[in-house]
Amino acid sequence: MNLNEFQAKELFSKFGLPVPNGKVAWSTEEALGIAKSFPEPKVVIKAQVLTGGRGKAGGVKLANSLEEVEKISSEILGMKIKEFTVKKVLVEEQMSIEKEMYLSFIQDRDNRGYRMIFSEEGGVEIEELARTQPDKVMMVQIEPFPGLVPFQLREVLSKLSPENKKHARGIYQMMNKLYKLFIEKDATLTEINPLIITSDGKCIACDGKISIDNSALYRNKDVIEYRLPEDENPLEREAREKQLNYVKLDGGNIGCLVNGAGLAMTTMDVIKHFGGEPANFLDLGGGAKAEHVKNALKIIVDDDDVNTIFINIFGGIVRCDLVAEGILNAKKELDIKKEMVIRLLGTNDKIAYEMLEKENISVFTAMTAAAKEAVKLSKQQGV
Ligand code: GDP
Ligand code: MN
Repeated sequence: MNLNEFQAKELFSKFGLPVPNGKVAWSTEEALGIAKSFPEPKVVIKAQVLTGGRGKAGGVKLANSLEEVEKISSEILGMKIKEFTVKKVLVEEQMSIEKEMYLSFIQDRDNRGYRMIFSEEGGVEIEELARTQPDKVMMVQIEPFPGLVPFQLREVLSKLSPENKKHARGIYQMMNKLYKLFIEKDATLTEINPLIITSDGKCIACDGKISIDNSALYRNKDVIEYRLPEDENPLEREAREKQLNYVKLDGGNIGCLVNGAGLAMTTMDVIKHFGGEPANFLDLGGGAKAEHVKNALKIIVDDDDVNTIFINIFGGIVRCDLVAEGILNAKKELDIKKEMVIRLLGTNDKIAYEMLEKENISVFTAMTAAAKEAVKLSKQQGV
């Protein structure tokens, strides 16, 4: 789960990381109110959306008077950044920036541990910097036990360029605190870009990104509160609430209803093999009941990119007759206009075939033949 910048900064504060004074606003009036609460209305207005590159897209701007706050916040609110519409902005006191650095902690699966990434040249995209000037990016491997050890930080900080040496202590504290947050909140990423040095020599987190491991949300109740309806894809939200695993994919037009992650992968592969493109996949999981199948079909039907539905179920624990019942209920209740190809095999499949044949719905038993048919139908309808 990804957090908005204002939420990340709230967590930063809780862990003692300095952030600029600021508040989030959902309207121009609120933005004005926040700007007025500062000694001077010199603020930075920042789009709060769950995607990067806001600066480049015009979603981060400085305002130096109340008139500018009004103008800029009304421009940014409602703006589209990638597929996200900006519903809220962070209004912060302007910082006078002397230096922009980079600091992050990420999971490092290859080394079964964590990694700290630090650079004295921040503010820019770290991937870009690592490509063009790899010597400017410092990496520290962290073993989960004993975790980040002080000598590792001292080694990094000993390499600071002479003009930044005087900030070593401040940066050291930021590193320790950000690491503590990373571990205690079960994060997969915590990033400060830029970590700034102000003209009066303070270290401050000027931007913040945090991703929390979804499997650890049960023990991070405060983080779940950060899930805002406007930040989520509505279909993904509906799927999550109905305990379905729904994954939206870019560019395709075949909606796939499957059971099990393995079959989901195979289904994608077979569709691609025959020249088609999946639009999503929805994994029913084991032991699905008719109601579950109907809920799943509703989500696929509501995905506007889908022109053909491919149901590919192997009945192990799942019973094919219950899947058939779900399909029939969905057909009755949802007025499905999209083409549908069904492949069902396994427990109680004979009963399922009878139920579906009664309604003139044909069923495949072989996955390849069914996938070919789904690809053919999706192409006939064009894009
Ligand atoms: P991002 O583009 O989404 O990563 O947004 P950031 O929060 O990182 O802001 C982009 C850039 O805006 C920063 O690298 C800074 O150069 C600039 N910026 C952000 N806040 C301030 C501020 O308070 N004062 C000044 N002068 N520049 C700022
Ligand atoms: Mn940034």
